[in-house]
Amino acid sequence: MVEKVLQLKCGCNEYGWGKQGSKSLAAQLASKTPGTDFKIDEDKAYSEMWFGTYPVLPSYVLETGEDLQDVLDKHSKELIGDTVINKFNHTKLPYLPKVLSIAKALPLQLHPNKDLASKLHAKDPDNFTDPNHKPEIALALGPFEAFCGFKPLSSIHKLLQLEPLQQFLPDAKSSSFSDKTLKEVVRNMLKASPDTIKSVNTALQNLPASSFGSDTYIPKLIPRLAAQYDEGDNGTIVALITMNYLQLNAGDSIYIPADGIHAYLSGDIIECMARSDNVLNTGFCPRADRNSIDMFCEVLTFQPHDAKECILPAKTFEKSKNGKTKVYAPPLSEFNMLATELKEGESEGLGRIEGPSVMVVTEGEGSLVVEGKEYKLSEGYVYFVGQGVERKIRASKGLKAFTAYAE
Ligand SMILES: [Zn+2]
Repeated sequence: MVEKVLQLKCGCNEYGWGKQGSKSLAAQLASKTPGTDFKIDEDKAYSEMWFGTYPVLPSYVLETGEDLQDVLDKHSKELIGDTVINKFNHTKLPYLPKVLSIAKALPLQLHPNKDLASKLHAKDPDNFTDPNHKPEIALALGPFEAFCGFKPLSSIHKLLQLEPLQQFLPDAKSSSFSDKTLKEVVRNMLKASPDTIKSVNTALQNLPASSFGSDTYIPKLIPRLAAQYDEGDNGTIVALITMNYLQLNAGDSIYIPADGIHAYLSGDIIECMARSDNVLNTGFCPRADRNSIDMFCEVLTFQPHDAKECILPAKTFEKSKNGKTKVYAPPLSEFNMLATELKEGESEGLGRIEGPSVMVVTEGEGSLVVEGKEYKLSEGYVYFVGQGVERKIRASKGLKAFTAYAE
């Protein structure tokens, strides 16, 4: 019989937007796995710790060194379970959870829907490694800034009346402004030359603060974003003028549907997505790394269209015995995310979950008990837990743990 609980060893990638050395929570957590060969290099930026089974950055079983996916394939019935195997028709983890440590803006991006993803994958499998869609959630571990979805049409239309921005309107005199017009505006902004973007940025900064209505952050963020990439980066104008700017705190979460525009700006977060690594980038990255602007605009979705619609509220988790666990349940079948928070000496019981789960401890110490066996919990410890078991979590020091699961 295979053990249901496996402690994992996870890797961390080094995208340029990540936090430096030990300032990166992702790197810190990855380095705390007992016996890991991962050592933090203070000269490197660490962006994402992945704790799924995606082949680009797989997780390994700590004790044996085996690739977790190989173990899941061998023991799929016991660990993944029939419910999830039948639902997705494979024995892989249907989700990919990560810890992100963000020092500067991530590329302005969207993740293609299933239809486009399968076409892109067939044509260009090296760049689009999966035929699947990739809706995602981002859960703040502390202060978190993000651009997410579009502002209401009326707010965008109003901003576009500002003299430096009128040039992006397909018809400056028209009083109507629809999603179709917005698509044109985004395309015009993305296609503008670096010189145009630079002069628009300067002109906007010279306007009185009152010109921006309640969006007073716009002139303040221009120099910050310009310093992160370059003054001519098209992402700056698209993000500031058309997108919602959110400032979130620990426990807040946002949901990005497939084809939804987003760019995260700063903070440490738990991110979870449907199993895929496909992305179309158009700003906040070097021009050579950008995908086709026309394709990006073609698939853009206009959900959400308001800052409030971006928020994914936490609910009580019905399998929580002591009420110390909340659930973030996005409108998709691939995963939910649990957040368990315990003070010193407190405990929580979680009822049987019918599919596979992966849990990361971001703070504190304690223990996890499954089928009578006890496992140590400590900052940076990551466990895979197979389907069909109850679990008990105890805190010996204030504990925060996040668990992605499917069932
Ligand atoms: Zn994304």
